[in-house]
Amino acid sequence: MSVQELVLKQRAEILHALCSSGSAEHLEQVLDILLAQEELSWEEYQNVQVPGRALYTNARQLLDLVHTKGVDTCGLFLAALKQILPDAKGVGFSLSGCLSSLEGKEEYQSTSSQTLLTQRPSLVSELQGCTDGALQALLISGLFTTADCDDVRLPIHTPSQQARRLLDHVRSKGESAAKTLLQYIQQKQESGSTLTQEKPTPPKEFVKYQKKLSSSVSAQSCFLSTYGGTSHMSLDDIYTEGELELGHDCADAYGSLGPEDIVGTAGTVNEEADTVLVSGEAGSGKSTLLQRLHLLWARGTALQDFLLLFPFSCRRLNSEQRELSVQELLFQHCCWPDREQEEIFQFILDHPHLILFTFDGLDELKQSFSDEHRLCCPTQRAPVHVLLFNLIQGSLMKGVRKVVTSRPEAVGPSLKKHLRKEVFLKGFSPSGIDCFVKKHHSDPTVAAKVLESLQTNTALLGLCHSPVLCWIVSQCHKELLGCGEGSPQTITDVYLMILQHFLQRQSSQKSTVGLGWLHEHLQTVLHLGRLAFELIGTTCYIFSGADLETCGVTEKDISMGFLIQSKDMSSTHYEFLHVTLQCFFAALYIVLSNNTDRSTIPKLFELKDLRETGLSSACFGSCLPSTYQQEGEATAAETPNLQITATFVSGLLSQRHQSLWLHCCPSAVVEKRVRQVAKCLSKGMQKHFKSIPQPVEGEKKSMHAMPGFVWLIKCIYEMQESRIAKDAMSKLEVDHLKLTYCNIGPVECTALAYVLQHLKNPVGLQLDNNSVGDVGVEQLLPCMHICNSLYLRNNNITDEGIRKLIAKGIQCDNFRKIALFNNKLTDACTQHFSHLLKTKQNFLALRLGNNNITAEGAKQLAEGLKFNHSLQYLGLWGNKIGDAGAEALARVLESSNTLVWLSLAGNGVGSRGARALANIIKNSTSLEEIWLIENCITRAGVECLIQALEHNTHVKSICLRNNDLTPEEVEEMTQRESRLIF
Ligand code: ADP
Repeated sequence: MSVQELVLKQRAEILHALCSSGSAEHLEQVLDILLAQEELSWEEYQNVQVPGRALYTNARQLLDLVHTKGVDTCGLFLAALKQILPDAKGVGFSLSGCLSSLEGKEEYQSTSSQTLLTQRPSLVSELQGCTDGALQALLISGLFTTADCDDVRLPIHTPSQQARRLLDHVRSKGESAAKTLLQYIQQKQESGSTLTQEKPTPPKEFVKYQKKLSSSVSAQSCFLSTYGGTSHMSLDDIYTEGELELGHDCADAYGSLGPEDIVGTAGTVNEEADTVLVSGEAGSGKSTLLQRLHLLWARGTALQDFLLLFPFSCRRLNSEQRELSVQELLFQHCCWPDREQEEIFQFILDHPHLILFTFDGLDELKQSFSDEHRLCCPTQRAPVHVLLFNLIQGSLMKGVRKVVTSRPEAVGPSLKKHLRKEVFLKGFSPSGIDCFVKKHHSDPTVAAKVLESLQTNTALLGLCHSPVLCWIVSQCHKELLGCGEGSPQTITDVYLMILQHFLQRQSSQKSTVGLGWLHEHLQTVLHLGRLAFELIGTTCYIFSGADLETCGVTEKDISMGFLIQSKDMSSTHYEFLHVTLQCFFAALYIVLSNNTDRSTIPKLFELKDLRETGLSSACFGSCLPSTYQQEGEATAAETPNLQITATFVSGLLSQRHQSLWLHCCPSAVVEKRVRQVAKCLSKGMQKHFKSIPQPVEGEKKSMHAMPGFVWLIKCIYEMQESRIAKDAMSKLEVDHLKLTYCNIGPVECTALAYVLQHLKNPVGLQLDNNSVGDVGVEQLLPCMHICNSLYLRNNNITDEGIRKLIAKGIQCDNFRKIALFNNKLTDACTQHFSHLLKTKQNFLALRLGNNNITAEGAKQLAEGLKFNHSLQYLGLWGNKIGDAGAEALARVLESSNTLVWLSLAGNGVGSRGARALANIIKNSTSLEEIWLIENCITRAGVECLIQALEHNTHVKSICLRNNDLTPEEVEEMTQRESRLIF
């Protein structure tokens, strides 16, 4: 087959490869190469690259052009494509043997304009990040006007598009502009300020310092603190990859991410910024991930582009009272240079791109991020938080890459605008849990038993997605395996298990029978509880000897293992093994102590009000002793910690745990606290329901969850009292419940299902853009009967999740609609939908867009549709069903008299498919809308549709934008049939 034929035959695949990401970048890179090879003239380039025109149309124009230009151009085109998309999925072109190779145009170029053209691909990447400097040079030389500059800088363009616009403008200005630009680039290269430069040779003292720093980083990162007191487990032996996800818009463009991708280019949204944020809930493994990066760097196995890595903990920076300069911060907090401080620091200043800073736990810093106080001199002293904020925003040490971790709640818009990118750490995947448990238990039979017990308790399995909970469960395997039916269900259960485990591990009287273990250690619990409680409201996570003394914490209490010594503090300080453990002890104190104020519980649950007034610290602090109150130091960190504490308070006051408090606290006091919590939860829910707007006439009553709603649901779940759940839901009257972008994972699904199953009337449950996954789907099953529609777009669901969902859905009479756009579904799930369609004759809408369904899957669906008499909406946008799939569906849908809406957009459907679809149009009495955009239907196919429409008055529109039609054909067909939309 000639390359020309290949271009024609593979047209649909090539178009998909070039355009399916939605970004014009691939097409533009191909054009750069063809221009540089002088295979396209300037005019031809402009005819292809029409601004504002649809990407697919531009790509088609290019394909038409290269085809007409003949074999040589086609060969070069395919070679360019291969270079840019070396492993484009689904592009079946076999390139070997029939390709021209791309030659570098190395012959002498007579003019600068010529050089700009032939070097275009590399210049585009070279200019990114320095277009401003280049524009400045052109402006100063009088060759560019400010209007030219503004045009290049238009913010709608990506940095590479800005670089291309710059080159195009320079071309139009002639030879002297081209010369100026080349000179500028050359100077830039010589001064070594681009990232692509060679690594410099550092001075001798610097190399010594580098060794000292890396051995200190290595020593600090080779053990995990949670294993410190119990067993010496090295990070290498226990580290398990967590799931990393990029910001929502580009999550799909890259496969699974490894730790190194955090500093890599994937998902970059702002090339100019230096700071990468890793966000994740408490216990999701942020600190451990950083620790892993530190260790890999120190060993020389990763991040080797960085000569120095400076690790910081915000928790420890809190206790730095002095004002410091950046130089002092680096050297005093990380590693002290033995000699030539100035020389080493100068090298750092001169080579910022070779340096990496990491800041763990920004949410634990006492001050909230602000970019008001600007500082740009690295030798000027300032409070540490001011230094930190200026480093993050790039006014200090521009070019140094910074990685910051934080809980999502602490990241506001003022920080977001300074981010290079954001990476979400989601905890362990199901296989990660498996892997972690096997690593934790060297005895494979124990590991197998733990995993088996997790499989039988899916609520607990859901909890184990959080690494800290997975660690506790593995740590407490004896308790877990010994508890039979009473195996933990809630987060509180899991923490009670570790409490018992640690207390009894040390106990001389292991024989303490029944529930006496808490009573035996009550004093320890109260001491640690007081320490946790009194300091949590003041964002204090590190405790001095004086703090311990004030709260009565003894040596014996410390030896229980909940507290560990803080690393790198000048004198002995302690912290809890994990911040969530501090929250748990604070909750224990609230439940057990005689000294807390009666308003403590209501204040704890009134988080929203506290946050609104911006005084959370001060308000919560008012139920603390006055010595611990600090005014005006409220940070976003407190809300999540107080939320977690409140969740534990709910759990501890559950009826199931009442017997624990016997002999520890008067039962009347406990009962009063239970009533207080129940009242707070009910009141909290009411507030959310009151925020529901009255529906516009004809529309459904809909509630969009406000912040705090999911947290309240989780508190109700912790209480495990259906009476409270029922009471909370009895007042909720909505048709649609929207919980999109709410960070809902399996744990939240368990709680949601527990509470929502008590709704009086069925609702549409919209959970789009969360992390439900297959385990979460399973957790939702108990509330399926009250869901009339389930929206689970973009939720990492696979065929296995669908199998379970459908098995339950078939039994639920109310369940009528499902939307699963953008998950991980393949043909394997279609047999379940087929079964659903056959069985449920009241099912209305099936939307499976943007998955991986091929013609085989479409045939399976058709099998089910053959027997279905109810389906009204069928959406398969962005799959790969092709002509064969469209034909299979058309054969059965021809006789449907219920189908109203059908989308086969973006499915590689050609004219054969269109011909088959015309048969539905001919026969259907119900169909109103068909979406066929972004396919490869030609004139012949559209002719069939037009003919079919002549016999049909029901169909209102057929969308055909971006198919294989010339503008003239589009014009003509629009004239002939107004219901065709192009
Ligand atoms: P975060 O910083 O998000 O609060 P941590 O990194 O402190 O969470 O994790 C809490 C605990 O969970 C760790 O001490 C460790 O026991 C366990 N853990 C977290 N991530 C991992 C991982 N990737 N591999 C093994 N264990 C982990």
